[in-house]
Amino acid sequence: MESIKNYFIAFWKGLWSLLVGMKVTGKEFVTPKVTEKYPENRATLKIADRFRATLTLKYDADGNHKCVACGICQMNCPNHTIQIVSKKVTDEAGNTKRVLDDYIYDLGSCVFCQLCVTSCPHGALEFSNDFEQAVFTRSKLVKHLNRKPESSN
Ligand code: SF4
Ligand code: SF4
Repeated sequence: MESIKNYFIAFWKGLWSLLVGMKVTGKEFVTPKVTEKYPENRATLKIADRFRATLTLKYDADGNHKCVACGICQMNCPNHTIQIVSKKVTDEAGNTKRVLDDYIYDLGSCVFCQLCVTSCPHGALEFSNDFEQAVFTRSKLVKHLNRKPESSN
């Protein structure tokens, strides 16, 4: 008699456990899906504004950036990802100043720490959330940020 009693106790425990599991499964059936169907949803895909995909120079409406080639971002980068190349130019008044010649950024070695952005005294940098950065050759990850986006490589 005791064994029959134990049998039914174990049976109901097992059934209860099954129902609890099915409750969780049933809840997931009606929960809205969070997975994205990429790349089919490329046109409507919304990437978070704060997502750090690649470093860029900020350009104003006239296509100018604010970088003065001081090199502070390069010094603060822990991964030697940035290389600032500057040159001297002389204006019509005869004044010589140093300007940015090439802003070289290697996306392949960037750790997205954002130290460059926060250390720039001119607010010249920002991260773009353009996440489609896959290329077939590593050299194409080296970007020249002071070129206009349409002519950057
Ligand atoms: S991006 Fe900013 S910190 Fe870097 S060289 Fe230009 S002005 Fe200096
Ligand atoms: S995010 Fe960090 S690793 Fe990347 S370029 Fe800036 S300072 Fe260097």
